[in-house]
This record gives sequence, C-alpha cells and structure tokens, in this order.
Amino acid sequence: MPVTLETPVQEIKGVGPRRAEMLAGANIHTVEDFLKYKPIRYEDRTNLRPIGEIEADRVVVIEGQVSITGRYTTPMKRMRIFEMVVKDDSGSVKAKFFNQPYLSQVFQRGRTVILYGIPRVDEYSQGISMINPEYEILAGGSDEKVHSGRIAPIYRKIGRLTTRTLRQFIFHLLADLPDQLDEPLPTSVVRQYQFPDRKSALEEIHFPSAATGVSKEAYLKELGLNQTLAQQRFIFEEFYLFQLGLQLIKKKRESRSKKRCIRMGKGVQARVRSILPFQPTSAQARVLKEIGDDLCSSRVMNRLLQGDVGSGKTIVALQAMVIAVENGFQTALMAPTEILAEQHYHTVCQLLSGTGYRISFLTSSVKGKRRESVLGQIQSGKTDLIVGTHALIQKGVQFKKLGLVVIDEQHRFGVLQRSKLISKGDLPETLIMTATPIPRSLALTLYGDLDVSVLDEMPPGRQPVQTIVMGERNREEVYALVHQELNEGRQAFVVYPLIEESEKVDLRAAAAMAKHLQKEVFPDAAVMLMHGRLKVEEKGQLMRRFRAGEIQVLVSTTVIEVGIDIPGATLMVIEHAERFGLSQLHQLRGRIGRGQHPGLCILMTEDLRSQEAEERINILCQTQDGFKIAEKDLEIRGPGEFLGTRQSGIPEFLFANIVRDRKLLELARREAKRYLRHYLKSSARSPQEEFSWLDKWWRQRYGLYHVG
Ligand code: ADP
Ligand code: MG
Repeated sequence: MPVTLETPVQEIKGVGPRRAEMLAGANIHTVEDFLKYKPIRYEDRTNLRPIGEIEADRVVVIEGQVSITGRYTTPMKRMRIFEMVVKDDSGSVKAKFFNQPYLSQVFQRGRTVILYGIPRVDEYSQGISMINPEYEILAGGSDEKVHSGRIAPIYRKIGRLTTRTLRQFIFHLLADLPDQLDEPLPTSVVRQYQFPDRKSALEEIHFPSAATGVSKEAYLKELGLNQTLAQQRFIFEEFYLFQLGLQLIKKKRESRSKKRCIRMGKGVQARVRSILPFQPTSAQARVLKEIGDDLCSSRVMNRLLQGDVGSGKTIVALQAMVIAVENGFQTALMAPTEILAEQHYHTVCQLLSGTGYRISFLTSSVKGKRRESVLGQIQSGKTDLIVGTHALIQKGVQFKKLGLVVIDEQHRFGVLQRSKLISKGDLPETLIMTATPIPRSLALTLYGDLDVSVLDEMPPGRQPVQTIVMGERNREEVYALVHQELNEGRQAFVVYPLIEESEKVDLRAAAAMAKHLQKEVFPDAAVMLMHGRLKVEEKGQLMRRFRAGEIQVLVSTTVIEVGIDIPGATLMVIEHAERFGLSQLHQLRGRIGRGQHPGLCILMTEDLRSQEAEERINILCQTQDGFKIAEKDLEIRGPGEFLGTRQSGIPEFLFANIVRDRKLLELARREAKRYLRHYLKSSARSPQEEFSWLDKWWRQRYGLYHVG
C-alpha cells in the first residue's frame, strides 16, 4: 500500500494500537499530521567535536563509547547519581545524571552514545563533566545513517516514543511518500517567494541538507530562527489557508443580500444626534459614519470596533442602536459580565430617556415571572432595546424583529466561536467592541473576517493618569495620597489580585485589607469590599453606591477590570502589581482618570521577581498608549496567554507564530485576497466546488463547517 498524506497512522508499519493512541494524544492522526510534527531543535552530527577538545560552558554534541559506569547516593542531600565516562579517540568526559537510577540499564558499557549539553567545570575534581545531558543511544546497523552523520532533528517525546523512534518513522514515511504532493498555494506565489515544493520542504524540515551557498553554521542559525525557505513555506501556507478561509467566509456573508432595509433620513439623523451629551470626537464621528454606511448598505454588517480604554466606544454603539430602532428593529447589547451589563443598562436608560424606547434587561439573574415577562415582551416586539450578557443570544431568546446586535467583549471570541454564535437565522447586523486594543497581527487572525473601525482619539479634556511604583516601606505615604484624594471629595480603588489556584487565601487577604482600611486607616470614609463571589445583586448594589459617591474606597478583586465607568474615581492602588498581566494592568488603570480630574495609579510591588515582571511594570509607567502596551504584552506572553487561555478562539498553528511571523501573515493575507479576487473574476465554478478542499482543511483543523 502506498503511503499518502491522508493515510491514518494505524496503517503505518510499526504503529500498533498503543502507539496510535500515543500519537493521537499529540493530535497526530494521519501521515500528514505526523510529518507536520516539527523538530524542536537540530543537532549538528556531521562533524562531531572530538571529546578531547570540548570546552566548559559551550553547547556541544559528542559521540563516544560508554566505558565506566557507576551509581551512588550523595551523603548530605541523599541524591541518587548515575555517572559514566564516555570516550572517543581524542579523550574522555564524565556525564552525571541525577535521580535516574534506571539509566544503568540504558547506558551499558561499550554502547555508542550521543550526548548534547553544556559541559561544566566540576567543583570538586576541576575536570569537565556534563550534567543531565540529553542523550541518544546509537544502535549500529544500516539505519544508523538516519540518526548520525547528519544534522539530526530532535523531537519532543510523544508518550513513550523517543526522539529516535519518531525520527525513524518520519524518515521512512518521507521515503515512502510520492514526490508530487498537492500544492495548495498558487503557482505564482510559490515562484515569487521561491518556496520549495511541499515534499522537498518536508524533507528539509526533518532532515536538513544544509543548503548550498551558505555555510553550515549560517544554515543552522536560520533553522533555529525558522527562517529557512522550507520553514517559511509552511508558515506561509498555514497563514494563507487560514486567511483564504476567512476571506471566503466574509465574501459568502457579503454575497447574501439582506431583506432588511435601514435608512438614515433626516429624522433618524436628528434622533442620533439628540442622544449625545457631548460633542463627539472626530474619530467617533468617522466611525459612526462607517457603521451607518454598513447598516444602510445591501450587505449585513460585520464590524469590529477597536479603541483604547476610555476612547468612547459605548456612545458610538448606542448611536448605531438608535439607527436600528428608528428603522423599526429591535436591538441587543451584550456585555461579558453581569456588572457590565447592569452598567450598560444604566447608561442606556439615562441617555435614551428622551426617546421613549422600551428598554429591557435580561441576564441569568433575572428569574421567574420577571423573566417570563421580559421574554414575552422581546418575542412580541414590545421591547425595542435589550441589554444583557452574552448568554442572551446563546440561550435562544426569541426576537420579533432583531436588527442589530452589539457585542461588548473581553476580547475572548475568535472567528471560530463567533461564526458558530451568529450563524443561525436571519443574520442581524453585528458590531463587536473589544475591551482593549488588539495588535494588528492578532486582529488579522481573530477578526480577519470582519471590517474594522478604530477609535484612535481620546475625548477632549481626558486627564492623564500618572503611574508610579511603590513598595511596602512607602505604605504610609500611599495612604496619605489616598487621604488627600478623599479629602478632595474623590474616590479610590484598591485592587487585589485573585488567582483561581489560591482564591481562598487571596480573598481572605482582600477581606482583611478592607477591614483594616476601614477601621485603622480611613475610619471616616466608607470602605467596601467587592469580589466575584458576591451575589450579582450585591455587586450591582455596590457599584451603584460607588457611582453615587456613597462609597469612597472600593477594595476589589479584578471583577472591576473591564469597562467599569466611575468618573469620580481618581486614584487606584494595585496591590501585588507584579502578579497582573500587562493588558490587565492597563485595563485596570483605565478605570480612573475618566472625569475632569487627573488620575494616579500606584503599583504596589515588593520584589520584582523576574526581569519580565520588571519590564511589564516599566512599560506601564512609561506609556498610556493601549496599542503600544498590547503589542508588548503579546510579544512577552504570546497569543494564548494574551487573550486568556480559556476559549481564546485563537486557531492553533503548527508552524506559524503570529507574533514572530507577522510579516508573513501580512503577505499571506494579501495573497489570499488577491487570489480570491482573481478567482471570483475569472472562474466559472462555484466557490463550493472550487474550495471544497479548503473546506476540508478547515474542518480538519478547526472543526468548522463550510467556508466556501
Ligand atoms: P470605552 O471605549 O472604554 O468603552 P466609554 O464608552 O465607557 O469608553 O467612555 C468613557 C467615558 O468617556 C465615558 O464616561 C463617556 O461618557 C465619556 N465620553 C465618551 N465620548 C466622549 C466625548 N466625545 N466627549 C466627552 N466625553 C466622552
Ligand atoms: Mg466600554
């Protein structure tokens, strides 16, 4: 049986049910998956360094014979050590392994081994030895050329499949695979970027041949940086197929003309203006125009509204909602949390009080008769505007005539979730707002199927927030600063980190702090504690009282992180600031300086345990530009962490990294767009026919139905 990319791994010679299961655990189901299991690094085994020449503190790969072995336990710390001497013609070196006594079975005398690691000078003997080096036992025989005498790929172990076993499998799979593999990239692209064909590229990634024209050292360096043409090819391919899918989803949506008709007559325009309590910024006016054009066009709107914390997204969304209601449609505003939903409800009621719209509120805390009545009003069309949490549309609420959905999100939803969310029924116009700016590379990936509007201007008179770092020894000084603000009639947040693993301890610390602040430090002020464990009504109550100025100091966990708008709050003390992520700190800080008075953000931190934490804190003190901060955060933490690991909606890439490879991402996006444009102009086939292969790829990779 010939091997193809689609061949299931069970059919590979040497892979039985047990191994197939291990492979499945690493998401390897087919030969293609197997061949896309890329090495984590490479070892140059072409001319190994003679053991006699190795130097301390420099990475080295050596090959030699095991000559002496021994085991012992250290007298003080009772550590079990396995030790051996490895020699070649030029000399010998000692290797030590801690707490792996079984190694005496592995390293039998006379065996040929490869060791990789950094030799160190031994404190006692002053000789050089290798501590816990990585190793491979050479077996001899005809297959040995797969493993040595070349630039060898090193793989992460899968179950009990060692790097050596994996290398062996991959070597034989490549040998059995036909030379011609389907080429998903347009010929022009392959030619322009000088990409190798897929088969050669796979061979090159697993068994680098050291390209002609460059020195081996230079080539190894390129490999390490993922910059060889073979690597770039697959990075590009992944981006390209993903972007092509996104563009197809977008095109498909756009090709469906909508039944709904929305107009911007004089009356509507006047109404939209009437709800504004202030002069809009020119960015707000521009974005509203973009949204208005979408709504009035023959295509359904799918727009992302990006803007830094405090740039005034809410009012723009509300204006869009007014347009919908004035045209006889219902509209929904969805927030990521109950607190935010309630705040939005409050804002909406206030700003729209002159319109006579019927406004409802629906979250999971609205229960029983009340809920039934609200649901009834939505269904019968009595409700014009509804505010709630994301659960709103997921729980199948029936609308009479839903025209526009505004999703205020914690940048959690990617294209994958979103298309599942809004794929049913008569598609409403959709406006998505992100809570914090998202770097372009990530936006292209997560939101590549959307049109994007950016609010890149802050409302006038916005006061800067000064950010300073303080430590435990400054605590009195910090309290004095808080006192000063309170005396001016302003309010303060004291924020505590709360992480799930140590939730109880953290919560107790926050509660004790609140008590201490009330009793000892600010006896004349009202100090209250807010945290995620409180009932929704209690949280709402606290926020209302804080907003009304009845509470002066709100001690809180990060439940206040997103979107909370309290213009009277000017000061924020963040305890253990080093435990927060960069974007999170920016988001928290965005809660103050929203009124006429300048803000002060005090980062309390004792020891900056890592350089990374220090870097984070420094950036925050230097800039208030959310886009800059987001870029940096993405760079430091990578996309998964940046978005919060839970259902980030970020697609998994095998070769690509959206931070490292952002240039290729841009190129791939451009090429995907170009190809689609060309195709739509020239082909007689339907997209379904033409792109069925892409459909398949998307389904396999992302579990997503049709893109074409
Ligand atoms: P975000 O973009 O973070 O959601 P908000 O919509 O909550 O920001 O707006 C932040 C604050 O700025 C609110 O108090 C809002 O009333 C105010 N605001 C928004 N636009 C303007 C404007 N053009 N002029 C003055 N204040 C504005
Ligand atoms: Mg907001």
